Amino acid sequence: MPKLTVVVPAYNESDVLAIFHERLFGVLDKLSLQCNVLYVDDGSRDDTWSVIQSLAAADARVGALKLSRNFGKEVALTAGLDHVDADAAVVIDADLQDPPELIPELVAQWQAGYDVVYATRSARAGETGFKRFTAAAFYRTMELMSDVPVPRDTGDFRLLSRRALKALAQLRERQRFMKGLFAWIGYRQTSVHYMRDPRKAGQTKWNYWRLAQFAIEGITSFSSAPLRLATWTGMVTSVVAFLLGLKVLIKALLHGDPVPGYPSLMVAVLFLGGIQLLALGVIGEYLGRNYAETKQRPLYFIEEEQLPGQPAKGPDA
Ligand code: UDP
Ligand code: MG
Repeated sequence: MPKLTVVVPAYNESDVLAIFHERLFGVLDKLSLQCNVLYVDDGSRDDTWSVIQSLAAADARVGALKLSRNFGKEVALTAGLDHVDADAAVVIDADLQDPPELIPELVAQWQAGYDVVYATRSARAGETGFKRFTAAAFYRTMELMSDVPVPRDTGDFRLLSRRALKALAQLRERQRFMKGLFAWIGYRQTSVHYMRDPRKAGQTKWNYWRLAQFAIEGITSFSSAPLRLATWTGMVTSVVAFLLGLKVLIKALLHGDPVPGYPSLMVAVLFLGGIQLLALGVIGEYLGRNYAETKQRPLYFIEEEQLPGQPAKGPDA
């Protein structure tokens, strides 16, 4: 029987894990696949790890990974996927915003021959208008700027075939924009639509500051368009400045040069100063990620692990 592993990153999710676990296995038990679940504790501060451990102790199909600190969802996911040995893996959030009931549909598309099956949200229930607007703006910008089309309104909830997993495992960049990485590997990709539910319990870890960081990360990881934009802006302003200079010169030659024009001079100086700082910032953004990549640090450390059907590796293993 083909093997399927479900990878669940969890950070401070002790409130919801038990409900999630039950709903997940309600779905998995109906599949004619050999199913495992791998929970990744991303350095939670609450008792998420003890909940995961008790789930793993109760069921041999449940695995548990504990990262050495909070690395963020992207890295937690990567750690989980690195430890998957199955014909396909499903990535799903622990907060029940991604309905486990969709997994059979993802599996059906996989069995129909697709390598990456992603879930696309048809509605964002329980999210504010502003959040919806910013999300939409983000996806549009990504579409305009990015070299690889990142599917719109998709989270990380998706299924990956064995070869897609193998491909993804080779992308070891430190700043990981997962949606982009999933799209970048290529192969046969398709989507399944669903309605996204509000969080069942606990708090979202995203605030607008983090979302803005995430957006900058998404754009700078997959596109050098901002650099090109800085070049173009520079060129256009230089041409305009040149023409303006010509006009000033001719005017001075024809009419002499009393001293008006201080306000327009200030405007031009400030405007150019602003553009220069912006362009420097853009360059700095790329330089910064270059620095992070060249350090070649490992993506994560594992503190404890208990893979499905294998002996546990304790804190000092
Ligand atoms: N998560 C994680 N590490 C983090 C933040 C979040 O592993 O540093 C997990 C979290 O437990 C959940 C999933 O990533 O399973 C999505 O997190 P959240 O619900 O906060 O994000 P959103 O649904 O708003 O995108
Ligand atoms: Mg969520």
